[in-house]
Amino acid sequence: MSTLLEIFKTMEYGPAPESPAAVNVWLEEHGRKFGLFINNEWVTPKGAKYFASYNPSNEELLAETVQAGQKEVDAAVAVARGAFESWSKTPGVVRARYLYAIARNVQKHHRLLAVLESMDNGKPIRESRDIDVPLLARHFYYYAGWAQLMETELSDYQPVGVIGQIIPWNFPLLMLGWKIAPAIAMGNTVVLKPASYTRLSALLFAEIVAEAGLPPGVVNIITGSSKAGSMLVEHPDVDKVAFTGSTDVGRILRRQTAGSGKKLSLELGGKSPFIVFEDADLDGAIEGVVDAIWFNQGQVCCAGSRLIVQENVAGKFIHKLKARMEHMRVGDPLDKCIDMGAIVDKSQWDTVDSWVKTGVSEGAELFQPDIKLPEKGLFYKPTLLTGLDPAAATVQEEIFGPVLVSLTFRTPEEGIALANNTRYGLAASVWSDNINLALDVASKIKAGTVWVNCTNQFDGASGFGGYRESGFGREGGKEGLFEYVRPIWMERPRPDFTPPAEDAKTKWGEHVPARPVMPVLSGATNGNKGASSLKEAGPSTERANGSDKPRVDRTPKMYIGGKQVRPDGHYTLSVLNADGQIIGQVGDGNRKDIRDAVEAAHAAHVAKPGWAMRHGYNRSQILYFIAENLDARNAEFVERIIEMTGRTQESAQAEVDAAVERLFTYAAWADKYGGDVQETTLRGVTVAINEPIGVVGIACPDEYPLLGFVSLMAPAIARGNTVVMIPSQKYPLSATDFYQILDTSDVPNGVVNIVTGDRDHLTKTLVQHEDVDSVWYFGSVEGSYHVEKESAANMKRTWVGYGLPRDWMNREQGEGHEFLHEATQVKNIWVPTGE
Ligand code: NAP
Repeated sequence: MSTLLEIFKTMEYGPAPESPAAVNVWLEEHGRKFGLFINNEWVTPKGAKYFASYNPSNEELLAETVQAGQKEVDAAVAVARGAFESWSKTPGVVRARYLYAIARNVQKHHRLLAVLESMDNGKPIRESRDIDVPLLARHFYYYAGWAQLMETELSDYQPVGVIGQIIPWNFPLLMLGWKIAPAIAMGNTVVLKPASYTRLSALLFAEIVAEAGLPPGVVNIITGSSKAGSMLVEHPDVDKVAFTGSTDVGRILRRQTAGSGKKLSLELGGKSPFIVFEDADLDGAIEGVVDAIWFNQGQVCCAGSRLIVQENVAGKFIHKLKARMEHMRVGDPLDKCIDMGAIVDKSQWDTVDSWVKTGVSEGAELFQPDIKLPEKGLFYKPTLLTGLDPAAATVQEEIFGPVLVSLTFRTPEEGIALANNTRYGLAASVWSDNINLALDVASKIKAGTVWVNCTNQFDGASGFGGYRESGFGREGGKEGLFEYVRPIWMERPRPDFTPPAEDAKTKWGEHVPARPVMPVLSGATNGNKGASSLKEAGPSTERANGSDKPRVDRTPKMYIGGKQVRPDGHYTLSVLNADGQIIGQVGDGNRKDIRDAVEAAHAAHVAKPGWAMRHGYNRSQILYFIAENLDARNAEFVERIIEMTGRTQESAQAEVDAAVERLFTYAAWADKYGGDVQETTLRGVTVAINEPIGVVGIACPDEYPLLGFVSLMAPAIARGNTVVMIPSQKYPLSATDFYQILDTSDVPNGVVNIVTGDRDHLTKTLVQHEDVDSVWYFGSVEGSYHVEKESAANMKRTWVGYGLPRDWMNREQGEGHEFLHEATQVKNIWVPTGE
């Protein structure tokens, strides 16, 4: 046996194992069999089916857990609904004490939780002990604070109700904390389903909840397969679904919840770039890569799995990286000295391995270090694939394992383009000692989190979530609260609509020729007789100045790219007044018109400088200018509303005045909603930026033809989005009059585009368009369903009205934070400072 001095001299590796004893005692106390945690009790259904949990590092059985079915899901939701009645009315200051107690109990049982997590998941104890569990406690402390402050700081909001939460297996405890803490802080109750591979730490957490004295039914944990998850999602008494997992399952859930009125947040997959510039501290960046891709065996949604290195240092960097990989230690997760533990399950191991084979078949050069793996257990070597084409499947798809692909770039522009060449947008890491460059790149990357000269930083005070197909919604920070509240005036939407069968053919969005297409002259014999008679045959001769010459014809057009254009299809749609008489005709837009409008909006967004790059000050001046010009033509707009709707002068006047005021509101918000400095645990700064979403397609309501249009356009453009507006189908003339205002208000071409016609037909093209980033729809309940369902194709964000009434005149309902929230997405940039 070597003496201590000899070991010290040779620096030979010696394991430092953590004991599994306490976990084994806990498992034995339960007879290695667990029920469901409902109403603060263990519930074991009669004739229950069980699922076995194994330790992936030695493939030994840990315990068995129940497979919940419909009856159990129903029971858990019913209990959560019952508890919601009192928990939602419990003062925030009281709820704060419970969250605080949970945080304290997590700390009390820190080691037990960490060891169990490592045994169940295979992650190194170093990570579960120093990252997962401390962050779990941190989230409960952080949201205890928001429970305390809700009544004063979020007085315009109320809890949502019963929340169905579904989490993945890669960070079982952390994902649970990210979901439960903000939900119960805001007065909601929850039913949570952990992932099948990693159910045990959620059950230990359940006991911690009970120990903290949380009232029964506030937190319920049910184990089960994806079928149980699906039952939870479908349950009519669930008011919101919060999901973290793969993009494919996220898509299923988006479709499943479409048209239901349930709130939905999706935290999905990623293929995050790790960009290294020539002037970066290369040794620091090497350690960064190790953390970015081999943390948790690469089973991390935001893993820096695409290394993108500046070409002139790429050779050196890859050489150093390979040398570093030779020193990585893969082994027993309970050994405090290892770098990487075990892959969670055999099926996941096979998936990873098959991706590596795919990479090789795609032409990659494979590098795996010459290190020893334990003989038993699901271990995989850290892996590097170089020489791949940027379009290769291995470069584009999430592997979710310890596999890094690497690419090179020459200029910053090329680096940014490669970084953004992905359907995902979860995170990115940028390495450069030039702060100007690093921050410029950070601002141009499309991802919810960007780490500068660091990676994998998380904290309760900073939101985390995706752009594009990485999902929508944020967890963490103040921004994470909005997922668990509803404006105080709003009931939970319960649309009166039954979705059609999955395979049913839909006619929604089909183009129906507008009727009447031509004025019906007197003497006509069709059924429309009188319903659409021309107010006057030929151009109007009614002239204020008494002239008897015919009025010069005025044909409203579409407005695309700053130009007035005729509809592509050259069809016309008649606009009727309240008496059914034709008062005007607008273009009947088609798919091509929408595509042209999206192209113009996209160009205005990406132009240099694009609309989003303009100062808030500049956008605010333009909005004030629009308001000024609208007010100057106040009487004309009033007259138009009366003409179309038959409403009183007073009512029309109030609408125009409100529209002017609303433009002032968003001129105000144009430079006051930029973001926050987050008070995270990082030594440095974490900045949350409210970025525009991009191109927003907006289908306006029929109520308030002018105010509805302005209330939706103004917040979107105030916050830097460019828009394609589909005005009220019934009363489009206020919108077509409006482009004359835009023309004279310094609005850059393409920022606002207006396409008139059949709302649902046009919306269908918008929602299916890959270059549209969000769709807002205030039409029918059926349309709302289709918009949500179709959006799943590229996971664009949606905001729909479910055909329910909204009082656009009321400031509480027609403007404010809800609109700003929908017009933005939060990006958190982390910049460490000091040595
Ligand atoms: P997954 O297969 O999508 O499963 C996630 C959860 O959904 C599990 O609890 C699973 O249950 C359940 N589920 C599966 N199909 C379902 C369905 N049809 N209806 C309802 N629930 C269903 O994902 P995973 O393999 O566990 O996790 C890896 C993925 O999560 C990766 O893509 C990763 O990027 C992503 N992730 C994202 C974040 C983020 O914050 N954005 C964080 C962590 C992980 P069973 O386990 O019982 O099948």
